[in-house]
Amino acid sequence: MTTDHISKKRIVILGAGESGTGAAILAKDRSFDVFVSDFGTISPKYKAMLDAEGIEWEEGQHSLDRILAADEVVKSPGIADSTPVMQKVIAKNIPVISEIEFAGRYTDAKMICITGSNGKTTTTLLTYHILRRAGLDVGLAGNVGNSLALQVAREPHDYYVIELSSFQLDNMFDFKANIAVILNITPDHLDRYDYKMQNYVNAKFRILRNMTPTDAFIYWKDDPVVSAQLKKIATEAATYPFTANDEEQCAAYINAENELIINTPASSLSMPRADLALNGVHNLYNSMAAGLSACLLNIRKDDIREALSDFSGVEHRLEPAATIDGVDWINDSKATNVNSCWYALDSMTKPTVLILGGKDKGNDYSEILPLVKQKVKAIVAMGKDNTKIIDYFKDHVAEIRDTHSLDDAVEACRQLAATGDVVLLSPCCASFDLFKSYEDRGRRFKDAVNALKHQS
Ligand code: ADP
Repeated sequence: MTTDHISKKRIVILGAGESGTGAAILAKDRSFDVFVSDFGTISPKYKAMLDAEGIEWEEGQHSLDRILAADEVVKSPGIADSTPVMQKVIAKNIPVISEIEFAGRYTDAKMICITGSNGKTTTTLLTYHILRRAGLDVGLAGNVGNSLALQVAREPHDYYVIELSSFQLDNMFDFKANIAVILNITPDHLDRYDYKMQNYVNAKFRILRNMTPTDAFIYWKDDPVVSAQLKKIATEAATYPFTANDEEQCAAYINAENELIINTPASSLSMPRADLALNGVHNLYNSMAAGLSACLLNIRKDDIREALSDFSGVEHRLEPAATIDGVDWINDSKATNVNSCWYALDSMTKPTVLILGGKDKGNDYSEILPLVKQKVKAIVAMGKDNTKIIDYFKDHVAEIRDTHSLDDAVEACRQLAATGDVVLLSPCCASFDLFKSYEDRGRRFKDAVNALKHQS
């Protein structure tokens, strides 16, 4: 670890959300001269926290004279390097770090860090669930939970499970993970990476920086992008690949008896795959990554098995909403792209009424067409403009409905689904045409479904 930051006195925090506010409080505790600047509006919660600490902040503007006087800048992951303020900071060669990098300087806790294009939140929460259940003193940080910096400042833990996006990793340098997980890499956020996939891959692989042979790198062995990158780079960390195939040389795999096997030098376990709480092959990967981390931390096998079996899942990710008149209603509102919907459909075992639609980000539906043909009895399109979905699927499903509100979509599903069917909201699209966010869409879906329950 370098020590040059010790002499730094003036720190500027760009962006006053969860991470920025936490970083500001930690910086103040560590006697930095702190100034927080947000070009947008700061939420009342964070204003109150900053005011309570006597930390200076501004919103709706960036005072360049103060920002450019910084010795170091802590940047929110949401702010792109292409913004005018960042261009000036970069031109002046002011070091820019992420909140996780900053917080990492002030803790010796063990860091379990999880990245990937899909599955980060699920795997992070599942890992956290196992560690907590086993009685470890563990905090949840990164994209979920409270900021790492705030916890390090005010409520320190022995372990942290941290969800890391590529944007956080971009500004990490000396931080070291004890356990690093890369779940998968598929093209995403390329607008922030000069439309070069390799830049995005490099960002993800920054999670391996500074790791030593006593640290562990867990990854999905069958991901072509991860495998190709591993041929190009060297890591000192011990590697723990996982696979859904029967491959004993992997640290986690499924054997011929359909059992999940996990083997690490610290501990090993086996359990029937059917006992895993989360369904779908994507969640098998997530369970393997979480189980491997737990074994490496030497957690009791029974605690790991129980926690992998009783995890209640994550809201809006294949979340059971209700069963009404023999029909299962499932909320997968977080499926905002076609690939997520593919995994949801892949895990369906009953005839499915699928709700699709929203703000299309240039979707190519051919990826899900085979599964739609195989499993979907009806599609209910739900969006402002459903033309693309209807044109694409109308010749491939028995029934397709055009709806423009959640209530109409739920009513159409109620008419189309019979006992033994599933209604799946896994829309492949962003939610912003009819909803505030995917959370808003998921919650309103659950409310509408629960209202049906009371009618039936
Ligand atoms: P993230 O935090 O990376 O966005 P989430 O855990 O929130 O990931 O899951 C988002 C969606 O991605 C889920 O609804 C699911 O359909 C899909 N998904 C989850 N885990 C995986 C995985 N390991 N591989 C591919 N897709 C996944």
